[in-house]
Amino acid sequence: MRYFPAFTDLDGRACLVVGGGETAARKVRLLRRARASVVVVAPSLTPELAELAAAGHVTHHRRAFRGGDVLGKALVIAGTERADVDERVAEIARAANVPVNAVDRPEASTFITPAIVDRDPVVIGISSGGAGPVLARQIRERLEAMLPANLGRLATFAEGFRSAVAATLGPGRGRLRFWQRVFDGPVAEDVLAGRETAASARLHAMLRDAADEVPRGEVAIVGAGPGDPDLLTFKALRHLQRADVVVHDRLVAAEIVAYARRDAERVFVGKARGSHACSQENINTILLSYARQGLKVVRLKGGDPMIFGRGGEERDYLVRHGVATVVVPGVTAATGCAAAAGLALTDRRHASAVTFVTGHPHDAEAPPDWAALARRGQTLAIYMGVGTAAATAEQLMAHGLAPETPAGVIERGTLPDQRVLATTLAGLGETVRQHDVHPPALLVVGEVARVLDRGAAGVARERVPDAALAAQ
Ligand code: SAH
Repeated sequence: MRYFPAFTDLDGRACLVVGGGETAARKVRLLRRARASVVVVAPSLTPELAELAAAGHVTHHRRAFRGGDVLGKALVIAGTERADVDERVAEIARAANVPVNAVDRPEASTFITPAIVDRDPVVIGISSGGAGPVLARQIRERLEAMLPANLGRLATFAEGFRSAVAATLGPGRGRLRFWQRVFDGPVAEDVLAGRETAASARLHAMLRDAADEVPRGEVAIVGAGPGDPDLLTFKALRHLQRADVVVHDRLVAAEIVAYARRDAERVFVGKARGSHACSQENINTILLSYARQGLKVVRLKGGDPMIFGRGGEERDYLVRHGVATVVVPGVTAATGCAAAAGLALTDRRHASAVTFVTGHPHDAEAPPDWAALARRGQTLAIYMGVGTAAATAEQLMAHGLAPETPAGVIERGTLPDQRVLATTLAGLGETVRQHDVHPPALLVVGEVARVLDRGAAGVARERVPDAALAAQ
């Protein structure tokens, strides 16, 4: 992070603005909103600034800038619209250790001002660190459109109840959840619609109930999708943002776990390949013990939690122990990878079915029905199949599937370093070996995979050159 984000209290403090044009006027307006005591130094003023000076709202010195002007100021803004003057002001302020912003000149400044969304007392500052002011402005426009105009009123309303809520509920998660319910529910709707009396009555009633409430834990078993954070569902996001604890494994990208609240506990229960550090029984016990502490737990799993994810076992265990449990589906690797590689799993010209199958037969309850899997006219999406690719291909061919049947490997599908390799059933094992494919990767077998060979429209067949991968 190039700049440290902070909000400064300028109430009643002397701040210097050098310049009397429109740029300076903009900064004066903002400083006045922050209740600063503004001193303007400029030979001439815009009519707006002149009016403020005449009314005594700002102090005006009608002259050129002098070095001594910066002394004793809480901050200085150089906004003369003249590069040489702004730079000199900045230099003097820096030498005097007074924070200074030369407008549009981050290199000369000791602080920069963000684009802001102002819902006073809620203020959102957006900075691209000077790298992309247009991007920052676009983000601001999106936030402007997203946030209710009355948001500030809601914050002020809540502030009025802060000490009462703290006194009744004490510190801790119960209080946090109470406020979440206030901001998500009918109280907030009332305030935003201008019905503050109703909101106030409702909040008091909620507070009385909350005081006698015993916290109830729950577990949401949430699918995180195949990797691209944008493939998360809204529901998944909502659960993540409310969770007290997030229990996740190796397949879930750090960016997705980062959507959880900053103070949420994160518990990694991933199994490194080959080692079974955290057994399924262990994971079940962890989930249960957090839920029994009255916490909202999110069990975050790659893809869809119920597809080769053992989500079913976790849910059954929790339900058996009386824990409220919900399941939030996710985009599974097969559909995510197919979309990212440009193939249609059940393109009706080639396939009337798609089968999700594990390449780790010992993970399944029963051995695979190879004869059924080898039938033509269907697509196989093989999960966890990297290590057994050659053996799987052998079995399918032995049961009658043609060696030249198109096949593909999608490694780290939907992620920026995704690789798509086109091959045939006979070449599957060799392709995996030769290209040093690592999990997570999905194998696809069937006529629909032929598009990979032609390079599906708009989809790079292989985005990372082998050399780059070998270097890792
Ligand atoms: N519940 C998950 C699957 C877990 S099993 C889901 O619904 O997707 C783990 C296997 O999923 C991996 O071995 C791999 O075959 C597949 N997989 C998961 N994410 C993947 C990705 N981004 N690209 C390719 N395959 C992936």
